[in-house]
Amino acid sequence: MANTDKTWTKEEILEIYNKPLMELIYDAAKVHREYFDPLKIQVSKLISIKTGGCPEDCGYCPQAARYHTGIEKNDLMPVEEVLSKAEEAKKNGSSRVCMGAAWRNVQDGEDFDQVLEMVKGLSSMEMEVCCTLGMVTESQAERLAEAGLHYYNHNLDTSEEYYKEVISTRSYNDRLKTLDNVRKSSLKVCSGGIIGMGESVDDRIGMLMGLQKLAQAPDSIPINALVPVEGTPLEEQEIVPVWDVVRMIAVTKLVFPKSTVRLSAGRTQMTKEGQALCFMAGASSIFAGDKLLTTPNPGDNEDLLMFNLLGLTPTEKKKDNVGKVKIRKETSATETEEKWSRPGHVIERNIEATEKGKAARRALKENSPS
Ligand code: SF4
Repeated sequence: MANTDKTWTKEEILEIYNKPLMELIYDAAKVHREYFDPLKIQVSKLISIKTGGCPEDCGYCPQAARYHTGIEKNDLMPVEEVLSKAEEAKKNGSSRVCMGAAWRNVQDGEDFDQVLEMVKGLSSMEMEVCCTLGMVTESQAERLAEAGLHYYNHNLDTSEEYYKEVISTRSYNDRLKTLDNVRKSSLKVCSGGIIGMGESVDDRIGMLMGLQKLAQAPDSIPINALVPVEGTPLEEQEIVPVWDVVRMIAVTKLVFPKSTVRLSAGRTQMTKEGQALCFMAGASSIFAGDKLLTTPNPGDNEDLLMFNLLGLTPTEKKKDNVGKVKIRKETSATETEEKWSRPGHVIERNIEATEKGKAARRALKENSPS
């Protein structure tokens, strides 16, 4: 039986990371079977409930307002539209829905109330519900839990050291603080990272070390492969080799045997054979639909074909995944206010992409008919 209480050192994780790949996949597959049915895959539907126009400068993200990426911006989606998209996804085999909003942090008010209504509606549909809305305070996390939310996603993205080369508008500590706030409520934590951003192997291991330092292991860990988008600072990054994705999934599974490892962004860059190795190595969840927020994703039919080929079936929603709702203590506004930071250090490639974005918008304005 895998030792789930083990605290791994960086050297130990590096040692398993460097194992011959076939050996690593075999080890991870064995551990995966101790806690999961290897023939079941959880299918999640990701709905972008508010797209683009984000004030942050995340170097990988086409939704940052400062970069010019040509995505279609959308205000907060009406509750009914979210529910109908979820209904359709459920018919197509999804047992989980994740709502993503391009916000720096959750702000109390009309928009947050609307999100709470979405959560209430979705949780009554017998689906697992997850949100990714940016930084969140403890009382906001509790309100989400009370509305019926099960998971909150907030990725560490990468190691603390490399994070400073990707994002300058918020700190790694704020990420940890958000995860801590989520954990203090009854919500489950979903947190992982992105590979292929130019990080070193040490940074990949650093991300896992960061997750290991949380009060409790994340209940689910998305592993994303960067999808380089034109106009973003990371537009010229080479597609990360599929072998790196498989290796990262296997190592994540060995370090966090009980967590659901999610094969997330970047699946269109992989063959079905590559994805099969990821499932063998311990990935047990994917996102469904032809779009992952704003980047491409294989459609439902492609995934159905892959599942049939591999003998996989989508999981049903687990009854025990419903969050235990705590009674929230009344808090004053000042108690609930969190002081989020804005480091503002210089990241050359982010500044360059911002300047290019400004120039592109100017050109568009000059060439548009008055
Ligand atoms: S990753 Fe999230 S916070 Fe960062 S720019 Fe994109 S939408 Fe904003």
